Amino acid sequence: MKDFDTVIYGGQVVNSTHTVTCDIGIVDGRVVALGEHLEGGQERIDANNLLVLPGGIDSHVHLAQPSGSAIMADDFTSGTKSAAFGGNTLVLPFALQPVGESLADAVQAYQAKAQGKALTDYSFHPIITDPTEPVLRELPNIIRSGHRSLKIFMAYDGLKLSDRQILDVFAVARREKALVMIHAENYDMIRFATEALASDGKLAPKYHAAAHAMAAEEEATNRILALAEWMNVAIAILHVSTRRAIEEIRAAQRQGVQVFAETCPQYLVLTAEDLDRPGKEGAKFVCSPPPRDPDSQAACWEGLKNGVFALFSSDHCPFRFEGAGGKQPTSGELDFRSIPNGIPGIETRLPILFSEGVTAGKIDVNRFVAVSSTNHARIYGFYPKKGLIAVGADADIVLWDPSQRVTISQRILHHDCDYTPYEGRQVTGWPVRTLLGGKTIVHEGSLCAEPGVGQFRAQGTPTQPHVQQAA
Ligand SMILES: [Zn+2]
Repeated sequence: MKDFDTVIYGGQVVNSTHTVTCDIGIVDGRVVALGEHLEGGQERIDANNLLVLPGGIDSHVHLAQPSGSAIMADDFTSGTKSAAFGGNTLVLPFALQPVGESLADAVQAYQAKAQGKALTDYSFHPIITDPTEPVLRELPNIIRSGHRSLKIFMAYDGLKLSDRQILDVFAVARREKALVMIHAENYDMIRFATEALASDGKLAPKYHAAAHAMAAEEEATNRILALAEWMNVAIAILHVSTRRAIEEIRAAQRQGVQVFAETCPQYLVLTAEDLDRPGKEGAKFVCSPPPRDPDSQAACWEGLKNGVFALFSSDHCPFRFEGAGGKQPTSGELDFRSIPNGIPGIETRLPILFSEGVTAGKIDVNRFVAVSSTNHARIYGFYPKKGLIAVGADADIVLWDPSQRVTISQRILHHDCDYTPYEGRQVTGWPVRTLLGGKTIVHEGSLCAEPGVGQFRAQGTPTQPHVQQAA
């Protein structure tokens, strides 16, 4: 047998179902052996006292995506660099269809933007903004070429689909066995509340949370569940933030509706009160849905624990705070209606979940791996090459120091955004080395790879995630 290129020895290897202390032998970018005391290896990596995890998969990020006059800080290089420093090896940004244009062209344009630029592997979810007859006819080819998850919005001017348009997309998705990802908020409820607040002169950032009421998310969640059940199509409801929405999803899952749910760090550790921080600081927390309240946070933790949430993603949407196209206006007062919706978080997703979840005893380390890696690979069609450490899988591996204490700060992050909403937050547990296809891309705070090392990965057939026993 050929010698191993790399042996990772002495670590605790964690998968979504179990943990075992063993060594990992890597040849040509893949795991070829798991065993005790593996000899040899051109390179030997000591993992004593470390956890050895499948690389994080962040299936909800926005990179290089135009958004009106707002400027998105991260392109494919800075975004994937930040992802790699945060322990991720695969990210799934979106390819946005400009209204009136071809979706296939949009996907191609994003392929070109990413080509040769990425430091982690990547794939795309096409966003359908304008499902005309010609676009619906393009869809089967797009899906078959490895874009099996389609995103639609129920809110936002220029993005929102009507119920009728959603049904048209669902019909194609069902036929082609694609998954439809949903931004579920009621457009008219948000408009109505926004206009009422504005006419009272209530324009500070905190009113963003009032405009995007929990009820608006809950209504849209209910409606999309009803439409999906009626059409018998698989959906994933993104960035779920309220207790009632979680309960509705759980009830639908129990009835056999094919619905996956996702939540994000901002719904675990931020609240609407952060939007009311002094001065202009509140603008740094404006995203949709907005962070809610302590009871919603508790509900999100319960959902992560009991399996309602299969997915934990960042929804990294890096709008800058300062400067033209940023969150605060270059002149005049802050007006929540014009603050770009989105916050950065691609690098801090795993440390926050590990620290607040695993270190704090809310979830175990296997569940951590499930919701941050394995289930993303299963649902979006990369399993069993990605999302686990097993013979035959890609050697996308993160060495994790469970006892390292870090204070999150803009100073230590690698995105091109100019702030982090988690400034000053202390976490315990941090990624110390990231390997992509067996090659170290980040080690102890240094980048060890060139842009282009990350490859496009087409989505294959999805597999059902293991559903944890619902309590
Ligand atoms: Zn998003």
